[in-house]
Amino acid sequence: MAARQQLAPVLRRLRLPRAPATGLSRQAALQQSLSRPARCFSQSRPRCFQGTPAVAGKDKFTSETYPDIKRDARFAQLTGDHVAYFRELLGSESAVIDGVTSSEAADDIEPFNTDWMRKYRGHCQLVLKPATTDDVSKILKYCNDNMLAVVPQGGNTGLVGGSVPVFDEIVINMSRMNQILDFDDVSGTLVAEAGCILEVADQFLASKGYIFPLDLGAKGSCQIGGNVSTNAGGLRLLRYGSLHGTVLGLEAVLADGTVVDDLCKLRKNNTGYDLKQLFIGAEGTIGIITKISIQCPQRSQAQNVAFFGLESFDQVQLAFREAKGQLSEILSAFELMDEGSQALVRQVTGNQSPLEDKYPFYCLIETSGSNADHDSEKLQAFLEDVMGKGIVVDGTLAQDETQIKGLWAWREGITEALGHLGGTYKYDVSIPLKELYQLVEDTRARVDAAGLLGDTEDYPVRAVVGYGHMGDANLHLNISTRRFDKRVEKVLEPFIYEWIAERQGSISAEHGLGVMKKKYIGYSRNPTMVGLMKNIKTTFDPVGLPLSSLPPTNSYWRTG
Ligand SMILES: Cc1cc2nc3c(=O)[nH]c(=O)nc-3n(C[C@H](O)[C@H](O)[C@H](O)COP(=O)(O)OP(=O)(O)OC[C@H]3O[C@@H](n4cnc5c(N)ncnc54)[C@H](O)[C@@H]3O)c2cc1C
Repeated sequence: MAARQQLAPVLRRLRLPRAPATGLSRQAALQQSLSRPARCFSQSRPRCFQGTPAVAGKDKFTSETYPDIKRDARFAQLTGDHVAYFRELLGSESAVIDGVTSSEAADDIEPFNTDWMRKYRGHCQLVLKPATTDDVSKILKYCNDNMLAVVPQGGNTGLVGGSVPVFDEIVINMSRMNQILDFDDVSGTLVAEAGCILEVADQFLASKGYIFPLDLGAKGSCQIGGNVSTNAGGLRLLRYGSLHGTVLGLEAVLADGTVVDDLCKLRKNNTGYDLKQLFIGAEGTIGIITKISIQCPQRSQAQNVAFFGLESFDQVQLAFREAKGQLSEILSAFELMDEGSQALVRQVTGNQSPLEDKYPFYCLIETSGSNADHDSEKLQAFLEDVMGKGIVVDGTLAQDETQIKGLWAWREGITEALGHLGGTYKYDVSIPLKELYQLVEDTRARVDAAGLLGDTEDYPVRAVVGYGHMGDANLHLNISTRRFDKRVEKVLEPFIYEWIAERQGSISAEHGLGVMKKKYIGYSRNPTMVGLMKNIKTTFDPVGLPLSSLPPTNSYWRTG
């Protein structure tokens, strides 16, 4: 808190006039801005992601939207006998949602059939909620023996259609396996079940002075098993690194029911292949993760959040370079938002922007450190420097916890705001930083040239916006539509994937492949690598053969 009080004068100094057209020098303008009152913050939503957004209209089935995906006829249809087996195995009434023998369960099953964006919708008739690893093992063994297809499901916040069925796959929902099993407060090693909600794990760690090394807007709903299965990146990868580095071990169940116990709690273990890495980001294609051990860092004592307005993407890059150089070890997030994305948040929330004027770009910078005075000095020097050089023209700094949450809401609220406005075509991509925003501009121009972008109901596309994890060269390109429209998809794909491949980018930075990008894997992985992946899938799940492409979205046996 001390740090923030000392930084208050800097907050005022940040209020530079946008263009000193009055003939004032930059320094004079800076001085003039000091006399202005401090900024008022609007109160925004709490930080965690809440629920499914409303989208008007009846959602189409994925099998209708993507008729090229075919159900593999080798897989059996569910019968009452199958359901009876699962009922006996799982016991509890609430552990089995049965739409096979009862038509009354249709409403209860629907949320498990539909993804967060309501873009993908399956025909699942049976949801199973195992409570133990042994349950998962027995379910999978039975499914393997009886040729029943399955989809593992965590918090169902995935954004590529991987967490819901396409056809009648059984949903294996992990929400009942939600226990924290062990925490070592010397090493910071947490062991928990896969169905533990990310925010619950983080709150537990907060009580011990630690932090979960991953944070994202869906933290109130997503599960740590889902996070590991998607290799989620989130808001602080810049600081804490990828789950490939922080996950120490895991337990998983293979398609035939075999339990793989690699729940190692050691940081170092160079005894052969590091097999757990294969499950991280595998999107459930080679096994269901049931437990995780993860290295958690100490929670920082001092945290600051600043929100800037910038005139160009070149200035954003300069600001990022300066932030890395000057804030170095205390920099914990550097997030990018364009004006288009912020306009959508304003439209949906009705909240007043943190800055008075509009700018083409905004950045959110977070620092986290152990010494408030030290952090304060560093941030103060940084802010004065970027203001003095004219890299940043406007900005504001959170003064307390509520304002920190408020500023974060302008970044974290984008996905949810988009969801409220209709359908969104989402592209989560990695591109070399220099050209990161060019993709948004080129896509916007292309959609516009096709006559699909406009302000009235006549046009399917409302806006083409970009935001993301600037610190990781990770752009979220979002095409906000009034309705999903095949013409829009045709304009976007494969154009976007080709654009990225030409620049050696990745077509999926952190959301995975799912149903959405499965067939486009070749834009980011060469045939040798895809071939090796097929071999790995075959090793872990021989019954899943033959594979026509890789990775199969999320079902062990889905091969479309
Ligand atoms: C508002 C919002 C913000 C988001 N921000 C980010 C972000 O910053 N960074 C980011 O990376 N993602 C982000 N996402 C996407 C999503 O939250 C992540 O992909 C998250 O990791 C998914 O976790 P989940 O538990 O919801 O998994 P689900 O959506 O249920 O599943 C995702 C995939 O993992 C598989 N799976 C789930 N659990 C298991 C398991 N136990 N074992 C094996 N496979 C499993 C599923 O089959 C599916 O293929 C965001 C989503 C929303 C809605």
